[in-house]
Amino acid sequence: MGLLKELERRDPVKIGEELHRFAAELYPICRSITGNGIRHTLAQIHKRIALQITEVPTGTEVFDWTVPREWNIREAYIKDVTGRRVVDFQHSNLHVLNYSTPVRAKLPLSELRKNLFTLPEHPDWVPYRTSYYKEAWGFCLSHNQMLALADGNYEVCIDSTLEDGHLTYGECYLPGRSVDEVLISTHACHPSLANDNLSGLTVATALAELLSGRDLRYSYRFLFIPGTIGAITWLARNHENVARIRHGLVLTGIGDPGGFHYKKSRRGNAEVDQAAAHVLAHQSESSEILEFSPYGYDERQYCSPGFDLPVGCLMRSVWGTFPEYHTSADNLDFIQPRQLAASLRICTALVDVIENNRRYKNLNPYCEPQLGKRNLYRSSGGDAIGEEINARFWVLNFSDGEHSLLDIAERSGLPFSTINEAAELLHQAGLLATFPDPSEGNVPKEESEEVESATGGIHRGRGARTRD
Ligand SMILES: [Zn+2]
Repeated sequence: MGLLKELERRDPVKIGEELHRFAAELYPICRSITGNGIRHTLAQIHKRIALQITEVPTGTEVFDWTVPREWNIREAYIKDVTGRRVVDFQHSNLHVLNYSTPVRAKLPLSELRKNLFTLPEHPDWVPYRTSYYKEAWGFCLSHNQMLALADGNYEVCIDSTLEDGHLTYGECYLPGRSVDEVLISTHACHPSLANDNLSGLTVATALAELLSGRDLRYSYRFLFIPGTIGAITWLARNHENVARIRHGLVLTGIGDPGGFHYKKSRRGNAEVDQAAAHVLAHQSESSEILEFSPYGYDERQYCSPGFDLPVGCLMRSVWGTFPEYHTSADNLDFIQPRQLAASLRICTALVDVIENNRRYKNLNPYCEPQLGKRNLYRSSGGDAIGEEINARFWVLNFSDGEHSLLDIAERSGLPFSTINEAAELLHQAGLLATFPDPSEGNVPKEESEEVESATGGIHRGRGARTRD
């Protein structure tokens, strides 16, 4: 049974609630690109899926970048003259400029203001600000909170450390029949922000749970990494292995109420681009396909020209285009269970397409085969044929070894699942032969049988890493 069908048998309300519960569990953690926040987050994910944790020391050169010092924080506050905490990290970790250097000082409001960040256009929201690569300290607060500060002296404390340590990332590898891989990458470095961070983390974790222990065509690699520097670090450490990545997806911002957006890979015509466009066209929410652009999330690194990997990015609202982006309003209310569940469904449908997309060859190409005598046609004449039978004609006609099932789904306007079911039936009836996919020759080394194609035309030794 297809993955999507299996998911659809479960109660979507419960799936959504479970995703949201997990997001709520991760929400209070003060994450950053390094430090105990991301470690703690990965430990929570590890309770659900097998996760290999990698620690890369400060100072490690990764392409043009260097792994930074590790940041940790215990507390931070601003106290007024009466000793009252007017801003307190314990209330929200967004109150501290992420990566703030430690500070203890007494200073007048006029001086303090230079280190305060607010959002005048949304006076009740707290902005999220970072200073990873320039030493600085600061506090983020609502504009109204700042306006309420009386003149006078304030005591500031940021009890943080910025020291040699490590950059941490997590990797969940699910071996399939082929060593060729599907890469799913999501950033895990934002503190209490729900859509931008936790939606991708929770849906990716649920997808990995769904795929764990299955007989899969591809191997799957899920990366939970700090944004930018994490992807760069992973790529630097895996330069030799990235040729295995046949399809990839960056998952982020998939919990908000907006419609779906899929940003194509740099190649623009990768199979994942085609699959995502198809899946989004055959679901009920609004969706838009965006051309590649070199700014955004970690697809920037996977699609840098030296790598040019077939990696797209699935979002709901596009980063930076919704007012809640990088503010305290990107909270648990902004990501609703129904939206998370629908995003998991889209990801599952996409995996189903990638797992099942292949080419077949019609073994009976001279005129139509007689479907009726094989019980593949309607029982009585006269009625219009339904979608299922129509799909059989489409598959037969275009199974010429050139068109994939996804090509046929696109051309016919029928859902991939219908086309795939038709192909399976026709294959069972002996009317189609499978065409070996390049990935199917790339099996793990320990298995060393010959792979032979159904048409007898293509042989490929196992363990071969031949690539088209
Ligand atoms: Zn962000």
